[in-house]
Amino acid sequence: MSLSSVLKDLEELTSNAKQTQDDLLDEILRVNANTKYLLPFLHGNPDKELFKKNVPIVTYEDARPYIERVADGEPSDVISGEPITSFFLSSGTTGGKQKIFPVNNKFFEKIVFIDALRTSIISKHINCVEQGKAMSFLNTRPLSTTSSGLLVAPLMTSFIVSSYFKKYWSSTRFTSPDEVILCVDNKQSMYCHLLCGLVRREEVVSLVATFASGVVQAITFLESNWKELCNNIRSGYISEWITDLGCKDSVSIILGGPNPHLADLIEQECSQKSWEGIITRLWPNIKFIQSTLTGQMSQYIPILEFYSNKLPLISPSYSSSETLFGVNVNPLCKPQDVSYTFMPNMSYFEFIPVDEGNNGEIIDLVNVKLGCFYETLVTNGFGLYRYRMGDILQVTGFYNSAPQFRFVRRKNIVLSVHVEATTEEDLFKALKHATLVLESSGLMLMGFTSYSDISTDPGHYVLYWELKAKHCNGIFKLDNEVMVECCCVMEESLNSLYREIRSKDGSIGALEVRVVQQGTFDSLMEYFISKGASTTQYKTPLSVNSPQVLAILEDRVLARFFSDKSSPL
Ligand code: AMP
Repeated sequence: MSLSSVLKDLEELTSNAKQTQDDLLDEILRVNANTKYLLPFLHGNPDKELFKKNVPIVTYEDARPYIERVADGEPSDVISGEPITSFFLSSGTTGGKQKIFPVNNKFFEKIVFIDALRTSIISKHINCVEQGKAMSFLNTRPLSTTSSGLLVAPLMTSFIVSSYFKKYWSSTRFTSPDEVILCVDNKQSMYCHLLCGLVRREEVVSLVATFASGVVQAITFLESNWKELCNNIRSGYISEWITDLGCKDSVSIILGGPNPHLADLIEQECSQKSWEGIITRLWPNIKFIQSTLTGQMSQYIPILEFYSNKLPLISPSYSSSETLFGVNVNPLCKPQDVSYTFMPNMSYFEFIPVDEGNNGEIIDLVNVKLGCFYETLVTNGFGLYRYRMGDILQVTGFYNSAPQFRFVRRKNIVLSVHVEATTEEDLFKALKHATLVLESSGLMLMGFTSYSDISTDPGHYVLYWELKAKHCNGIFKLDNEVMVECCCVMEESLNSLYREIRSKDGSIGALEVRVVQQGTFDSLMEYFISKGASTTQYKTPLSVNSPQVLAILEDRVLARFFSDKSSPL
């Protein structure tokens, strides 16, 4: 796929958004009208009006029994007119069980298309990116199968082990060889990614991870391991604990023999007291960082700005295990201002307005209104029909006739101890204000989660924070005044119902911040991964309540602080 032909596709598809959506729905209904799932609603008739009138809007719990029948060995035609060949394991859960989504190769073709599109868009805005390499932190999870023998893996793992990865993602694109990307031991793979990236530092033009948390994780890993990495570069031998043969052999070739000069150079940069701008210091030709920075990932923007000397932070696309949605056609905009242009050839999209006064009407892609908020319904042709995504989006504009959306939040509330409902967006707003207080005293928030503590009377919000100093090797002393100020600022930023109950009714207690030891959120991630979460798709939960997770956090609490005034209305 050439850059110019993909950009031409972008223009054509977005200019003909309505026609493309209509054609796609026609095709989906033609192929799937006789599936066991759709038959009772359509009686085999692939008619669009019938689809809109009869097919119900569903959540994962409604679709689960049909999906599980195929996973357990019934023919694909329970849900899909074309064979289902594997399942994507999503990071989301319902009722404590991970969700799986049926797919086939057509999904991989869409990934290849969206990837080509975002690469072309970036190349249009930044010169010469195709002449260098990306230092990527891609990795894979061990594979598993359903009881009927079909592959179950997270989206990225499934793609990497498919023939599409080899065919379309040429190995010359990354600093790491395929063996490192395919290594299922995430610690060995991370070490090797960094080693290859450091040895090929002059060639690195971008740093790529699926989510911003992955970039922060890589830099934190580098902070703990740079001495050993330098020793390997100095001697030309890779550490003994890299036992994965694919990694060992392929990375040894890249290492290419002793390089004391490079080892000295890296050592000099890494041993400086402050790691401000470390990314641009270690990779002098880097032009941008590419990873999802919207939604839950926006919390990492200040940390990445600090480490990267304000390099462009590009959030290129919006995707999920259910479908790919769209791309950011304005990659150099501020990460806080990112919107995604929906691609009308990905899935059939409909929208439920979430603004007040919604009368149950469902809107087509091209009829959404500027400024309004919606929840997306997905009909993907792989077994999801009018499926509620649970993501809330706001229309920010149009690219030709395709709407552009800002990711607002996941639908679910994250905290509540009384009748108030604190959403993801409320929590992020409060944290943003607290982060300003932290920043002015030289501290960075490295990770957080929250907990609705109703064991106290009244119940109260607890925030677990992992902190780090910007300078002085990250070491800091906690200042009571600053921390209490953070608690107060957060309360002041929460929604009006929270503030009203907290100040008038007394049914919500003072907000508490519990500062935890460094590495706590890595331990939390290890716990979730041991329970089957995917490393590439892992996102720290915004709020927690399982006793096991709380025990991990509580074991590592260093200090506690409470807000000392009830928030003004
Ligand atoms: P998963 O299926 O595990 O990949 O998770 C998909 C979910 O991740 C989506 O439904 C969103 O809630 C979130 N997500 C994915 N891409 C983005 C993005 N670009 N911005 C914000 N949230 C995203």
